Amino acid sequence: MAMNSRTILIAGGGITGLTAALCLSRAGFRVDVFERAEGFETVGAGLQISPNALSILAMLGIDRAVKNSAVAPAAIRMISAFSGKAITSIPLGAAAIERYGLPYLVVHRADLQQVLASAVRDDPDITLHLDARVEDAVSHANGVTALVGQAGRNSEYTGRILVAADGVHSVIRKLAFAGHDPVHTGYAAWRGLIPGETLSGAQDRETTRVWLAPDAHAVAYPVRNGRYVNVVGIVKAKADEDASDVRSTREMLNAFEGWNDEFRSLINHKVRWTHWPLWQVPKMPQWHRGNLVLAGDAAHAISPFAAQGAAMGIEDAAILALHLGRTLNIQDEEGGAVGEALAKYSRERMARVARVRRLTSANRIIYHLPKPIGMVRDLGMKIIGGKRLLKRQDWLYQWRSEEFRRDLN
Ligand SMILES: Cc1cc2nc3c(=O)[nH]c(=O)nc-3n(C[C@H](O)[C@H](O)[C@H](O)COP(=O)(O)OP(=O)(O)OC[C@H]3O[C@@H](n4cnc5c(N)ncnc54)[C@H](O)[C@@H]3O)c2cc1C
Repeated sequence: MAMNSRTILIAGGGITGLTAALCLSRAGFRVDVFERAEGFETVGAGLQISPNALSILAMLGIDRAVKNSAVAPAAIRMISAFSGKAITSIPLGAAAIERYGLPYLVVHRADLQQVLASAVRDDPDITLHLDARVEDAVSHANGVTALVGQAGRNSEYTGRILVAADGVHSVIRKLAFAGHDPVHTGYAAWRGLIPGETLSGAQDRETTRVWLAPDAHAVAYPVRNGRYVNVVGIVKAKADEDASDVRSTREMLNAFEGWNDEFRSLINHKVRWTHWPLWQVPKMPQWHRGNLVLAGDAAHAISPFAAQGAAMGIEDAAILALHLGRTLNIQDEEGGAVGEALAKYSRERMARVARVRRLTSANRIIYHLPKPIGMVRDLGMKIIGGKRLLKRQDWLYQWRSEEFRRDLN
Protein backbone atom coordinates (compact mmCIF):
# COMPACT_ATOMS: atom_id res chain seq x y z
CA MET A 1 0.00 0.00 0.00
CA ALA A 2 2.27 2.76 1.32
CA MET A 3 5.17 2.03 -1.06
CA ASN A 4 2.96 3.52 -3.74
CA SER A 5 1.69 6.16 -1.34
CA ARG A 6 2.42 9.74 -2.31
CA THR A 7 2.74 10.70 1.35
CA ILE A 8 6.08 11.57 2.95
CA LEU A 9 6.45 12.08 6.70
CA ILE A 10 8.96 14.61 8.02
CA ALA A 11 10.12 14.76 11.66
CA GLY A 12 11.18 18.33 12.49
CA GLY A 13 10.03 21.71 11.23
CA GLY A 14 13.42 23.45 11.32
CA ILE A 15 15.03 24.96 8.22
CA THR A 16 15.78 21.50 6.77
CA GLY A 17 12.35 20.00 7.50
CA LEU A 18 10.39 22.95 6.11
CA THR A 19 12.59 23.24 2.99
CA ALA A 20 12.29 19.49 2.44
CA ALA A 21 8.48 19.74 2.70
CA LEU A 22 8.41 22.45 0.03
CA CYS A 23 10.82 20.60 -2.28
CA LEU A 24 8.98 17.26 -1.91
CA SER A 25 5.63 18.90 -2.53
CA ARG A 26 6.99 20.54 -5.67
CA ALA A 27 8.25 17.10 -6.74
CA GLY A 28 4.69 15.74 -6.53
CA PHE A 29 4.33 14.34 -2.99
CA ARG A 30 1.87 14.96 -0.15
CA VAL A 31 3.78 15.83 3.00
CA ASP A 32 3.07 15.70 6.74
CA VAL A 33 5.54 17.73 8.83
CA PHE A 34 5.66 17.08 12.58
CA GLU A 35 7.24 19.77 14.75
CA ARG A 36 7.44 19.24 18.50
CA ALA A 37 7.33 23.00 19.29
CA GLU A 38 3.96 24.71 19.63
CA GLY A 39 4.97 27.48 17.24
CA PHE A 40 7.93 29.01 15.48
CA GLU A 41 10.16 31.05 17.75
CA THR A 42 10.39 34.74 17.08
CA VAL A 43 13.65 35.02 18.98
CA GLY A 44 16.91 33.68 17.61
CA ALA A 45 20.16 34.64 16.04
CA GLY A 46 21.58 35.25 12.59
CA LEU A 47 22.34 33.00 9.65
CA GLN A 48 24.50 33.54 6.60
CA ILE A 49 22.75 32.29 3.47
CA SER A 50 25.30 31.75 0.73
CA PRO A 51 24.34 31.59 -2.99
CA ASN A 52 24.33 27.76 -3.08
CA ALA A 53 21.52 27.69 -0.49
CA LEU A 54 19.76 30.75 -1.91
CA SER A 55 19.57 29.02 -5.33
CA ILE A 56 17.18 26.44 -3.81
CA LEU A 57 15.06 29.09 -2.10
CA ALA A 58 14.90 30.87 -5.47
CA MET A 59 13.66 27.68 -7.19
CA LEU A 60 10.93 27.49 -4.55
CA GLY A 61 9.99 31.11 -5.33
CA ILE A 62 10.63 32.37 -1.79
CA ASP A 63 13.93 34.19 -2.28
CA ARG A 64 12.16 37.56 -2.59
CA ALA A 65 10.41 37.09 0.73
CA VAL A 66 13.75 36.15 2.32
CA LYS A 67 15.44 39.21 0.77
CA ASN A 68 12.75 41.49 2.24
CA SER A 69 14.30 41.32 5.68
CA ALA A 70 17.83 40.19 4.77
CA VAL A 71 20.97 42.24 4.28
CA ALA A 72 23.54 41.66 1.52
CA PRO A 73 26.81 42.72 3.22
CA ALA A 74 29.26 44.60 1.02
CA ALA A 75 32.20 42.50 2.24
CA ILE A 76 33.61 40.22 4.93
CA ARG A 77 36.24 42.18 6.83
CA MET A 78 38.81 39.98 8.55
CA ILE A 79 40.23 41.73 11.63
CA SER A 80 42.90 40.88 14.19
CA ALA A 81 40.99 40.46 17.47
CA PHE A 82 43.55 42.01 19.82
CA SER A 83 44.96 44.90 17.78
CA GLY A 84 41.76 45.59 15.84
CA LYS A 85 43.89 45.95 12.68
CA ALA A 86 42.36 45.03 9.33
CA ILE A 87 43.74 41.81 7.82
CA THR A 88 41.88 41.78 4.51
CA SER A 89 38.44 42.38 3.05
CA ILE A 90 36.61 39.74 1.00
CA PRO A 91 34.23 41.45 -1.43
CA LEU A 92 30.58 40.32 -1.36
CA GLY A 93 27.66 42.61 -2.36
CA ALA A 94 27.85 43.25 -6.11
CA ALA A 95 30.98 41.06 -6.36
CA ALA A 96 29.01 38.01 -5.10
CA ILE A 97 26.18 38.67 -7.56
CA GLU A 98 28.64 39.06 -10.42
CA ARG A 99 30.47 35.85 -9.49
CA TYR A 100 27.57 33.62 -8.43
CA GLY A 101 24.52 35.21 -10.04
CA LEU A 102 22.93 35.51 -6.58
CA PRO A 103 23.65 37.60 -3.50
CA TYR A 104 25.28 36.39 -0.31
CA LEU A 105 22.70 37.22 2.38
CA VAL A 106 22.61 37.46 6.14
CA VAL A 107 19.24 36.97 7.83
CA HIS A 108 17.62 36.61 11.19
CA ARG A 109 16.95 32.89 11.64
CA ALA A 110 13.35 33.51 12.77
CA ASP A 111 12.67 35.57 9.60
CA LEU A 112 13.85 32.72 7.36
CA GLN A 113 11.84 30.22 9.41
CA GLN A 114 8.71 32.42 9.09
CA VAL A 115 9.08 32.68 5.30
CA LEU A 116 9.45 28.88 5.04
CA ALA A 117 6.55 28.24 7.45
CA SER A 118 4.27 30.62 5.59
CA ALA A 119 5.07 28.94 2.23
CA VAL A 120 4.38 25.56 3.87
CA ARG A 121 1.01 26.77 5.22
CA ASP A 122 0.05 28.10 1.78
CA ASP A 123 0.79 24.75 0.15
CA PRO A 124 -2.33 22.52 -0.02
CA ASP A 125 -0.16 19.41 -0.32
CA ILE A 126 1.59 19.98 3.02
CA THR A 127 0.09 19.55 6.50
CA LEU A 128 2.06 21.13 9.32
CA HIS A 129 1.42 19.52 12.71
CA LEU A 130 2.67 21.66 15.59
CA ASP A 131 3.12 20.42 19.16
CA ALA A 132 3.63 17.01 17.50
CA ARG A 133 6.62 14.98 18.64
CA VAL A 134 7.75 11.96 16.63
CA GLU A 135 8.39 9.35 19.34
CA ASP A 136 9.18 6.33 17.20
CA ALA A 137 9.26 5.26 13.55
CA VAL A 138 9.37 1.81 11.99
CA SER A 139 10.34 1.01 8.43
CA HIS A 140 8.50 -1.94 6.87
CA ALA A 141 7.74 -3.51 3.51
CA ASN A 142 4.89 -1.09 2.85
CA GLY A 143 6.73 2.09 3.79
CA VAL A 144 6.99 3.61 7.22
CA THR A 145 4.82 4.08 10.32
CA ALA A 146 5.53 6.86 12.81
CA LEU A 147 4.21 7.22 16.31
CA VAL A 148 3.47 10.87 17.03
CA GLY A 149 2.62 12.35 20.43
CA GLN A 150 0.11 15.20 20.05
CA ALA A 151 -1.86 16.95 22.77
CA GLY A 152 -1.30 14.18 25.30
CA ARG A 153 -2.18 11.26 23.02
CA ASN A 154 -0.30 9.16 20.49
CA SER A 155 -1.35 8.75 16.85
CA GLU A 156 0.09 6.61 14.06
CA TYR A 157 0.86 7.98 10.61
CA THR A 158 1.99 6.01 7.58
CA GLY A 159 3.81 7.09 4.47
CA ARG A 160 6.26 6.10 1.78
CA ILE A 161 9.29 7.26 3.78
CA LEU A 162 10.10 9.30 6.88
CA VAL A 163 12.64 12.12 6.62
CA ALA A 164 14.35 12.67 9.98
CA ALA A 165 15.09 16.41 10.03
CA ASP A 166 14.93 16.52 13.81
CA GLY A 167 18.27 18.17 14.44
CA VAL A 168 21.60 17.28 16.02
CA HIS A 169 20.01 15.30 18.88
CA SER A 170 17.74 13.39 16.45
CA VAL A 171 15.46 10.77 18.03
CA ILE A 172 15.27 8.85 14.75
CA ARG A 173 19.06 8.67 14.40
CA LYS A 174 19.26 7.32 17.93
CA LEU A 175 16.57 4.69 17.25
CA ALA A 176 17.56 3.50 13.80
CA PHE A 177 21.26 4.36 13.48
CA ALA A 178 22.67 3.36 16.89
CA GLY A 179 26.27 4.30 17.67
CA HIS A 180 26.19 7.68 15.95
CA ASP A 181 25.57 10.02 18.87
CA PRO A 182 26.69 13.63 18.54
CA VAL A 183 30.01 14.64 20.09
CA HIS A 184 30.87 17.92 21.77
CA THR A 185 33.24 19.98 19.61
CA GLY A 186 35.10 21.49 22.57
CA TYR A 187 33.66 24.90 21.65
CA ALA A 188 30.71 27.05 22.61
CA ALA A 189 29.08 30.00 20.85
CA TRP A 190 28.08 33.25 22.56
CA ARG A 191 25.22 34.82 20.65
CA GLY A 192 23.37 38.11 20.96
CA LEU A 193 21.36 40.61 18.90
CA ILE A 194 22.08 44.29 19.41
CA PRO A 195 19.40 46.84 18.43
CA GLY A 196 20.80 49.25 15.85
CA GLU A 197 19.58 52.37 17.68
CA THR A 198 21.79 51.55 20.67
CA LEU A 199 24.94 51.27 18.56
CA SER A 200 27.45 54.08 18.36
CA GLY A 201 27.83 55.75 14.96
CA ALA A 202 31.32 54.26 14.69
CA GLN A 203 29.95 50.72 14.43
CA ASP A 204 29.94 49.30 10.91
CA ARG A 205 26.50 48.12 9.69
CA GLU A 206 27.42 47.44 6.06
CA THR A 207 29.75 44.47 6.29
CA THR A 208 30.27 41.15 8.01
CA ARG A 209 33.15 41.44 10.45
CA VAL A 210 35.24 38.43 11.50
CA TRP A 211 37.73 38.83 14.36
CA LEU A 212 40.48 36.20 14.65
CA ALA A 213 42.28 35.29 17.90
CA PRO A 214 44.15 32.29 19.32
CA ASP A 215 41.56 29.58 20.11
CA ALA A 216 38.64 31.92 19.40
CA HIS A 217 36.94 34.01 16.75
CA ALA A 218 33.85 36.19 16.48
CA VAL A 219 31.50 37.29 13.73
CA ALA A 220 29.13 40.28 13.56
CA TYR A 221 26.72 41.25 10.79
CA PRO A 222 23.54 43.28 10.33
CA VAL A 223 20.14 41.54 10.14
CA ARG A 224 16.49 42.65 9.81
CA ASN A 225 17.26 45.32 7.22
CA GLY A 226 20.07 46.58 9.44
CA ARG A 227 17.84 47.14 12.48
CA TYR A 228 19.96 44.71 14.53
CA VAL A 229 23.53 43.49 14.57
CA ASN A 230 23.97 39.78 15.18
CA VAL A 231 27.07 38.85 17.18
CA VAL A 232 28.52 35.35 17.54
CA GLY A 233 31.70 34.64 19.50
CA ILE A 234 33.22 31.15 19.46
CA VAL A 235 35.47 30.07 22.30
CA LYS A 236 36.78 26.84 23.81
CA ALA A 237 34.37 25.27 26.28
CA LYS A 238 34.23 22.22 28.48
CA ALA A 239 32.41 19.18 27.19
CA ASP A 240 30.23 19.03 30.32
CA GLU A 241 28.45 22.26 29.37
CA ASP A 242 25.69 20.53 27.48
CA ALA A 243 22.78 22.98 27.61
CA SER A 244 22.37 26.49 26.25
CA ASP A 245 21.79 29.20 28.84
CA VAL A 246 21.57 32.96 29.24
CA ARG A 247 24.66 34.80 30.53
CA SER A 248 25.42 38.37 31.55
CA THR A 249 27.25 41.03 29.57
CA ARG A 250 29.96 40.92 32.28
CA GLU A 251 30.59 37.20 31.60
CA MET A 252 30.71 37.87 27.86
CA LEU A 253 33.23 40.70 28.39
CA ASN A 254 35.35 38.36 30.54
CA ALA A 255 35.29 35.68 27.85
CA PHE A 256 36.66 38.21 25.33
CA GLU A 257 39.23 39.89 27.62
CA GLY A 258 41.93 41.83 25.78
CA TRP A 259 40.03 42.07 22.46
CA ASN A 260 40.01 45.40 20.63
CA ASP A 261 37.69 48.30 21.55
CA GLU A 262 35.48 47.98 18.47
CA PHE A 263 34.51 44.44 19.44
CA ARG A 264 34.32 45.07 23.20
CA SER A 265 32.12 48.14 22.77
CA LEU A 266 29.85 45.98 20.61
CA ILE A 267 29.46 43.33 23.29
CA ASN A 268 29.22 45.87 26.10
CA HIS A 269 25.47 46.03 25.52
CA LYS A 270 22.95 44.74 28.00
CA VAL A 271 21.25 42.32 25.66
CA ARG A 272 20.32 38.66 26.07
CA TRP A 273 23.65 36.87 25.62
CA THR A 274 23.15 33.14 25.16
CA HIS A 275 25.87 30.56 25.49
CA TRP A 276 25.49 27.47 23.26
CA PRO A 277 27.60 24.34 23.47
CA LEU A 278 28.49 23.23 19.93
CA TRP A 279 27.87 19.61 18.95
CA GLN A 280 28.61 17.73 15.78
CA VAL A 281 27.52 14.43 14.29
CA PRO A 282 30.56 12.39 13.23
CA LYS A 283 30.71 11.01 9.70
CA MET A 284 28.25 8.13 9.27
CA PRO A 285 28.51 5.22 6.79
CA GLN A 286 25.05 6.00 5.37
CA TRP A 287 22.05 8.21 6.02
CA HIS A 288 19.25 5.82 5.14
CA ARG A 289 17.98 2.58 6.61
CA GLY A 290 14.92 0.98 5.05
CA ASN A 291 12.45 3.80 4.53
CA LEU A 292 14.00 6.14 7.10
CA VAL A 293 16.37 8.83 5.90
CA LEU A 294 18.33 11.54 7.74
CA ALA A 295 18.71 15.13 6.53
CA GLY A 296 20.21 18.38 7.82
CA ASP A 297 21.78 18.49 11.28
CA ALA A 298 20.29 15.06 12.11
CA ALA A 299 22.62 13.60 9.47
CA HIS A 300 25.64 15.87 9.64
CA ALA A 301 25.62 18.68 12.21
CA ILE A 302 28.93 20.50 11.69
CA SER A 303 30.47 23.31 13.69
CA PRO A 304 29.76 26.77 12.27
CA PHE A 305 33.33 27.59 11.07
CA ALA A 306 32.20 27.76 7.44
CA ALA A 307 28.61 28.99 8.12
CA GLN A 308 27.20 26.11 6.08
CA GLY A 309 25.06 23.97 8.43
CA ALA A 310 21.67 25.28 7.34
CA ALA A 311 22.88 25.61 3.75
CA MET A 312 23.71 21.88 3.71
CA GLY A 313 20.23 21.09 5.08
CA ILE A 314 18.67 23.21 2.31
CA GLU A 315 20.77 21.44 -0.35
CA ASP A 316 19.84 18.03 1.17
CA ALA A 317 16.16 18.92 0.80
CA ALA A 318 16.47 19.55 -2.93
CA ILE A 319 18.56 16.47 -3.70
CA LEU A 320 16.27 14.20 -1.70
CA ALA A 321 13.25 15.57 -3.59
CA LEU A 322 15.08 15.20 -6.91
CA HIS A 323 15.79 11.47 -6.46
CA LEU A 324 12.52 10.57 -4.72
CA GLY A 325 10.49 12.55 -7.24
CA ARG A 326 11.82 10.29 -9.99
CA THR A 327 10.31 7.23 -8.26
CA LEU A 328 6.78 8.63 -8.34
CA ASN A 329 5.72 7.20 -11.65
CA ILE A 330 7.50 3.87 -11.28
CA GLN A 331 5.57 0.73 -10.28
CA ASP A 332 7.58 0.05 -7.12
CA GLU A 333 5.83 -2.83 -5.39
CA GLU A 334 9.05 -4.07 -3.75
CA GLY A 335 10.32 -0.65 -2.79
CA GLY A 336 13.51 -1.10 -4.84
CA ALA A 337 13.22 2.25 -6.63
CA VAL A 338 12.76 4.14 -3.36
CA GLY A 339 15.74 2.32 -1.81
CA GLU A 340 17.86 3.23 -4.83
CA ALA A 341 16.70 6.86 -4.65
CA LEU A 342 17.66 7.09 -0.97
CA ALA A 343 21.04 5.50 -1.71
CA LYS A 344 21.69 8.04 -4.50
CA TYR A 345 20.72 10.90 -2.19
CA SER A 346 22.98 9.56 0.56
CA ARG A 347 25.99 9.09 -1.74
CA GLU A 348 25.66 12.45 -3.45
CA ARG A 349 25.13 14.42 -0.28
CA MET A 350 27.76 12.61 1.78
CA ALA A 351 30.44 13.52 -0.75
CA ARG A 352 29.44 17.19 -0.71
CA VAL A 353 29.13 17.40 3.09
CA ALA A 354 32.50 15.64 3.52
CA ARG A 355 34.14 18.45 1.54
CA VAL A 356 32.37 21.09 3.64
CA ARG A 357 33.52 19.25 6.78
CA ARG A 358 37.12 19.51 5.56
CA LEU A 359 36.69 23.24 4.94
CA THR A 360 35.16 23.63 8.41
CA SER A 361 38.12 21.86 10.06
CA ALA A 362 40.60 23.90 8.04
CA ASN A 363 38.87 27.16 8.98
CA ARG A 364 38.89 26.20 12.65
CA ILE A 365 42.66 25.66 12.54
CA ILE A 366 43.38 28.78 10.47
CA TYR A 367 41.05 31.12 12.39
CA HIS A 368 42.33 30.01 15.80
CA LEU A 369 46.10 29.89 15.20
CA PRO A 370 48.30 30.90 18.16
CA LYS A 371 49.97 34.31 18.08
CA PRO A 372 53.25 34.00 16.13
CA ILE A 373 51.78 31.73 13.45
CA GLY A 374 48.62 33.85 13.49
CA MET A 375 50.71 36.80 12.32
CA VAL A 376 52.00 34.74 9.40
CA ARG A 377 48.37 33.80 8.59
CA ASP A 378 47.39 37.50 8.60
CA LEU A 379 50.24 38.34 6.24
CA GLY A 380 49.34 35.38 4.02
CA MET A 381 45.68 36.51 3.82
CA LYS A 382 46.80 40.04 2.95
CA ILE A 383 49.04 38.77 0.16
CA ILE A 384 46.40 36.42 -1.25
CA GLY A 385 43.85 39.26 -1.09
CA GLY A 386 40.10 39.24 -0.61
CA LYS A 387 39.18 38.58 -4.25
CA ARG A 388 41.24 35.42 -4.44
CA LEU A 389 39.99 34.27 -1.03
CA LEU A 390 36.45 34.53 -2.40
CA LYS A 391 37.44 32.65 -5.56
CA ARG A 392 38.64 29.76 -3.39
CA GLN A 393 35.03 29.30 -2.25
CA ASP A 394 33.70 28.95 -5.82
CA TRP A 395 33.23 25.15 -5.48
CA LEU A 396 31.00 25.83 -2.47
CA TYR A 397 28.95 28.83 -3.57
CA GLN A 398 28.64 27.87 -7.25
CA TRP A 399 26.85 24.61 -6.38
CA ARG A 400 23.45 24.38 -8.13
CA SER A 401 21.06 21.53 -8.77
CA GLU A 402 20.20 22.09 -12.42
CA GLU A 403 18.64 18.60 -12.50
CA PHE A 404 16.19 19.55 -9.76
CA ARG A 405 15.39 22.79 -11.59
CA ARG A 406 14.72 20.83 -14.80
CA ASP A 407 12.53 18.28 -13.01
CA LEU A 408 10.45 21.06 -11.45
CA ASN A 409 9.72 22.62 -14.84
C1 LIG B 1 26.46 29.61 16.39
C2 LIG B 1 25.93 29.02 15.13
C3 LIG B 1 25.97 29.75 13.95
C4 LIG B 1 25.52 29.18 12.75
N1 LIG B 1 25.59 29.92 11.61
C5 LIG B 1 25.19 29.37 10.44
C6 LIG B 1 25.23 30.14 9.24
O1 LIG B 1 25.64 31.30 9.23
N2 LIG B 1 24.81 29.56 8.07
C7 LIG B 1 24.35 28.26 8.04
O2 LIG B 1 24.02 27.77 6.95
N3 LIG B 1 24.29 27.52 9.18
C8 LIG B 1 24.68 28.03 10.37
N4 LIG B 1 24.58 27.31 11.51
C9 LIG B 1 24.05 25.93 11.46
C10 LIG B 1 22.52 25.93 11.43
O3 LIG B 1 22.01 26.67 12.49
C11 LIG B 1 22.02 24.50 11.50
O4 LIG B 1 22.78 23.67 10.65
C12 LIG B 1 20.55 24.43 11.06
O5 LIG B 1 19.76 25.27 11.86
C13 LIG B 1 20.05 23.00 11.14
O6 LIG B 1 18.69 22.97 10.75
P1 LIG B 1 17.86 21.63 10.91
O7 LIG B 1 16.49 21.98 10.46
O8 LIG B 1 18.57 20.51 10.24
O9 LIG B 1 17.89 21.32 12.47
P2 LIG B 1 17.25 22.16 13.66
O10 LIG B 1 17.36 23.62 13.42
O11 LIG B 1 17.83 21.63 14.91
O12 LIG B 1 15.70 21.79 13.59
C14 LIG B 1 15.22 20.57 14.06
C15 LIG B 1 13.73 20.75 14.37
O13 LIG B 1 13.20 19.49 14.74
C16 LIG B 1 12.37 19.65 15.87
N5 LIG B 1 12.37 18.33 16.55
C17 LIG B 1 13.38 17.75 17.23
N6 LIG B 1 13.02 16.52 17.65
C18 LIG B 1 11.76 16.32 17.20
C19 LIG B 1 10.84 15.25 17.28
N7 LIG B 1 11.17 14.11 17.91
N8 LIG B 1 9.63 15.37 16.71
C20 LIG B 1 9.28 16.52 16.07
N9 LIG B 1 10.10 17.59 15.96
C21 LIG B 1 11.33 17.48 16.51
C22 LIG B 1 13.02 20.77 16.66
O14 LIG B 1 12.09 21.39 17.53
C23 LIG B 1 13.47 21.69 15.54
O15 LIG B 1 12.48 22.61 15.18
C24 LIG B 1 25.01 27.86 12.73
C25 LIG B 1 24.94 27.12 13.91
C26 LIG B 1 25.38 27.69 15.11
C27 LIG B 1 25.29 26.88 16.37
